[in-house]
Formats: sequence, structure tokens, C-alpha cells
Amino acid sequence: MNEDKDDLQPLTHMVQAGRRAEWTGMPGQPGGIVNPPVWRASTILYDNVAHLRSAVHDTHERLFYGRKGTPTAWSLADALTSLEPGAEATALFPSGVAAIACALMGVLRPGDELLMVDSAYDPTRNFCEKVLRPFGVDTIYYDPMIGSGIADLCTDRTRAIFMESPGSLTFEVQDVPAIVAVAKSRDIVTLIDNTWATSLYFQPLSHGVDISILACTKYIVGHSDVMIGSVTANAATWEKVRSSAQYFGQMTSPDDAWLAARGLRTLGVRLAQHQVAALEVARWLAQQPEVARVLHPALPECPGYEIWKRDFNGSSGLFSFVLTGGSGAKADKARAVLIDDLAHFGIGYSWGGFESLALPVDPQRYRTATRWEAEGLVVRLSIGLEDPADLIADLASGLKRWRSAM
Ligand SMILES: *Cc1c(COP(=O)(O)O)cnc(C)c1O
Repeated sequence: MNEDKDDLQPLTHMVQAGRRAEWTGMPGQPGGIVNPPVWRASTILYDNVAHLRSAVHDTHERLFYGRKGTPTAWSLADALTSLEPGAEATALFPSGVAAIACALMGVLRPGDELLMVDSAYDPTRNFCEKVLRPFGVDTIYYDPMIGSGIADLCTDRTRAIFMESPGSLTFEVQDVPAIVAVAKSRDIVTLIDNTWATSLYFQPLSHGVDISILACTKYIVGHSDVMIGSVTANAATWEKVRSSAQYFGQMTSPDDAWLAARGLRTLGVRLAQHQVAALEVARWLAQQPEVARVLHPALPECPGYEIWKRDFNGSSGLFSFVLTGGSGAKADKARAVLIDDLAHFGIGYSWGGFESLALPVDPQRYRTATRWEAEGLVVRLSIGLEDPADLIADLASGLKRWRSAM
């Protein structure tokens, strides 16, 4: 779809993509609206019966019925596709979880086995256990650091390998090229949750992955006010994704697509600032005596740091740190004392907005193939667009409170 534009840099794509004249203007009028407007529709009217009948065969990016989208959603999908070299097209969903669920349903059938990374987002695991397993698909969890060792887990029933890199609680960076090489030699489909990096900082399809999934709720939207997900697929898997989305009736509202497209235009500058500020906070934390380890892919002590350096163009604003002092009830209380009175960090789920967030996380609860063991309890930070000096001062008082509570 974007053959003639593959030579443009990603930042240019983000500004230009999805702004086709037929989506931004009206025939006979000069020019067009800069940002494609909101087209709301359920019914589309036809001139006559013959026109109605012919439209059934011509539904891709042509008005047909509201569920198939309008130019607002096509514009966002087109922009996301243009940011992934090697992509055929993108389908949109009402949330990141819906995108993950529908992509998996598109490639799996009863009797298949799915290899799922053990550091996966918890609701992804829930979908595997509560939906896929009762429908006859077995999920086998694997060590995020497995690399080419994944070959040992592949059987003749293995249909798909799902990656999430880095993991969103513990930040192990996966060796995607090594896993893809094994998958390709056995005709196994590969999927990745690329929400942390976005296609600006890691391009899964260029590394041979078939299907790239984003919780656009996070960095694409960037303002903590919209739920939306996307699945971008290569030519080999697009039809599976498209038909799965169609049969499940998945779509996104034009208003939400419009807000996500608006967010996308500034993703480059936002992510660059999240990166700089998060690194400043992470490096400061790494030097504090209360902190045992900082789990940030761009810091050498993070598992998979070397892989991050080899494969990624940047790092975003989400990372964790491990406190010292073990994991008893007292440590749990001290962690809450640290977080509760932070002035500039909200306490809440999700991430990737302009405002900073702090969350207590307990990775051991979500592991089955590996054990999570650490020196103490874990705090996850989403670094927003505040001045990092204020965030560091805030965390310094938090660590002081933690010390008095331990
Ligand atoms: C939030 C998140 C999702 C799910 O996105 P929703 O839009 O909240 O459904 C998926 N993967 C990761 C890594 C996430 O952080």
C-alpha cells in the first residue's frame, strides 16, 4: 500500500500519512482539511439497487456500512501501516486487549499450540487460559530470554509464537530475530505486542515478525483519554487478521480513531521527551542505596540490554525498579508509603500519557514457566512530560519515607 513512500523517514510519515485528498476534502472545493475529520456513520446510502449490489464486492476503503469503517478510521490505519516497513495493512480495535484477542483468533484453530512469553501482559495470559484453552488451543509459556532455544518447545502442533518485548512489568528484551528464524523454518506465525517501543523505536515486521500489535491507548493516543488497539500485518497474514476482525464485528469509533490520529502526529516529539526524562530518572534511581536494580532496557543491568542496543532505535518512558529489603508485609507497607504521597505521580493502571504514574507490581503472580526472584519489591514508573528534576525530587522524598517505614 505504501510502496512509493517507503523511502520517507518515520517522522515524515507521521505528519503526512492518512491525509489523502478523498478523506480530507470535497470534490470541487479547494484543498482540504489538514487533519482528516470525523466521519460518523452506520447506514451508507446507495443510488439504486444495482449500486447497492456492486458495493458488496468492493468494501476495502470504500464506504459500505459503518462497521467497515469510514475515512476517519482508514486514515489512522493507513498512517499506522506506513510506519511499519513491510506491512500490508492495519485493523483497528476498541482496545489493545481486543486487538490481541482477535489477532490470536485469526491464526489459531482447535488442536493448535501457542507459545506465549512468560512475561506477557496479564490480560493476554487470561485470554489464553479463559478463552483459547476451552476452545482447544493449548498455550505453553516460555522464558522471555529463551532466544533460539524456543526450537526445543516447538512441536508439530505449534501454530504461533507470541512475543512482548520488553515485558511491561519486568522489561526483559527478547531476541526477536532468533525466535523468528526458528518460526520461519517451521512455518509458525509470529506475533508481537510492540506497545512499549511503538513502530518508531522497533519495527517488528522488518525483523521478520508477521503481526505487530499496539495498545494505541498508550503512546499513540498519549493523553490517557481513549481506548484503542491496532493490528498491523504483513501480506502473508493480513487476510487472517482482516477476516477475524470482520467476523467478530471488531471496529473502533470514528471519534476515538480521530483522537488517536491526532495523538499520532506528535508521537515523535512526545516519545523523544519520554525517553530523555525516563533515562534521567532511571539513572538517578540506579545510584540510590534503597534501589537494588533498575529494569530499563537502555541500562546494562536489564536482561536483554545487548539485544535492545542491537535492535531498537530508542527507549520509551516505562520502566521498573527493584527496592532492597526483601518482600515481607513490612516491605509491602513501606512500598505503599513510598508511592502514596508522591506529588507528581498518579496511582493508576495504563501508561503512556503526558502525566507520570507509579504502580506497585508483583511479577511473581503472573509467572508459570519461570520464577521471578528479586532483592525486594518492584515499583513501575511511567515517566510523563513533567520536568524530570521535579520527578526526581519527588522520588527522593518517597525513598526517604520508605527508609523510615522499613
Ligand atoms: C495496556 C496494554 C495492553 C492492552 O491495552 P488496552 O487498550 O488497555 O486494552 C496490551 N499490552 C500491553 C503491553 C499493555 O501495556
